[in-house]
Amino acid sequence: MKSSKCRFCRSEDLHDVIDLGKQPLANAFSGSANKSINLKRYDLKVVRCKRCNLCQLSEIVHWSEIYNNYSYLSSSSKPLVDHYKKLVSSLDASYSIKNSYILDVGCNDGILLDCYDEITPKNKRVGVDPSSVAKLAKEKGYQVFNSPLNLALSEQIILSVGNKFKIITFTNVFAHIDEIHEVMKSLSKLMNEDTILIIEAPYLYEMLENKYFDTIYHEHYSYLSLLPMLLLMEEYKLEIFHVEHSNIGASGPNLAYHVRFKTKNEYTEIIKTTIAYELEKIKSGIFDNYQKSIEEWKKSLIELIDEEVKSGGVVGCVGSPAKGSTLLNFIFSPSNNKVELISEVNPIKINSYLPGLGIKIVSESEFDARGITLAILLAWNYSDFFIEKYKQKQSSYKLLVPLPELNVYKN
Ligand SMILES: [Zn+2]
Repeated sequence: MKSSKCRFCRSEDLHDVIDLGKQPLANAFSGSANKSINLKRYDLKVVRCKRCNLCQLSEIVHWSEIYNNYSYLSSSSKPLVDHYKKLVSSLDASYSIKNSYILDVGCNDGILLDCYDEITPKNKRVGVDPSSVAKLAKEKGYQVFNSPLNLALSEQIILSVGNKFKIITFTNVFAHIDEIHEVMKSLSKLMNEDTILIIEAPYLYEMLENKYFDTIYHEHYSYLSLLPMLLLMEEYKLEIFHVEHSNIGASGPNLAYHVRFKTKNEYTEIIKTTIAYELEKIKSGIFDNYQKSIEEWKKSLIELIDEEVKSGGVVGCVGSPAKGSTLLNFIFSPSNNKVELISEVNPIKINSYLPGLGIKIVSESEFDARGITLAILLAWNYSDFFIEKYKQKQSSYKLLVPLPELNVYKN
């Protein structure tokens, strides 16, 4: 479905930021090369609303199509668990939340709700999640609603819980929501003057500055920043009074927005500074130059790969995160693909094929036996870890870290 209006402010004044071509769903790993190549493709293009500066995808794939077979388990990510533990202890320190009602929207397997063990009883911890993994959170003893958040559900929650919430969290969820005004109306029902709403999401300006274009895929409907968030909250008599940066491995740099019902008509210092930073970036032409800078990066990467293949080398990739699908489908099509194999440690992905290009995903030992001469690190956000492993194993191939800059390592 094409989206012709800004999701937040409804303006139709939308302008191209980056076009990554037609791509399949980034998490649609298939059982055969043929199936993978023939997957349905959708435009993968980000546009910006000139009125409120929200960036969003130009084409929306319905969530039920994306999450049909969603098997990502948050708790399998150790850095994420550590991050949430820190988040909860800082919430307790700032807002004294002992024995309070907590709601986590997009609770997945309960990874964040688990972190309140010392703080509040299980029956006061509530989760909402439309995907099938929510049943794991339910099994842990939390009150879980297996549905997307909407007005009807929020009324059902209030009836069943019998209370409004002290803390409501959206971690890595807000950017995945299409019907944002429905969610905002639902929040108004779940909040009171004491409620602190925490929305944590990847930060647009970091993606732009550091060329993290591969974090663009069909699951991420919106690319968030403070200016549009302020306007959206304002519409519902809410205020963002604090923002906090964090850097977690799984999805890169995040910004957490701390929100409550409006108390005064003045911005706090940190909000003023962040507004000034974003306005300065817009003035510097950061949106206008993005496509060009990514195209230049792509050209250099293709040159490196072509050189390797011409001299008889074999190219592979290390790791198969969703962002790797975006990156590879942006540089190659099935007819000119030069990547032979991808190595992976996750047993669910081994022996499946990368969406769109039909590249086989294999175990590390199979990968090492194939005589790869150049390996592109697709999970480049964990580059420290992989470079260390590469050196220890004394691998014979060259390791290419593609982002934020092209860097080649040799043993
Ligand atoms: Zn807008």
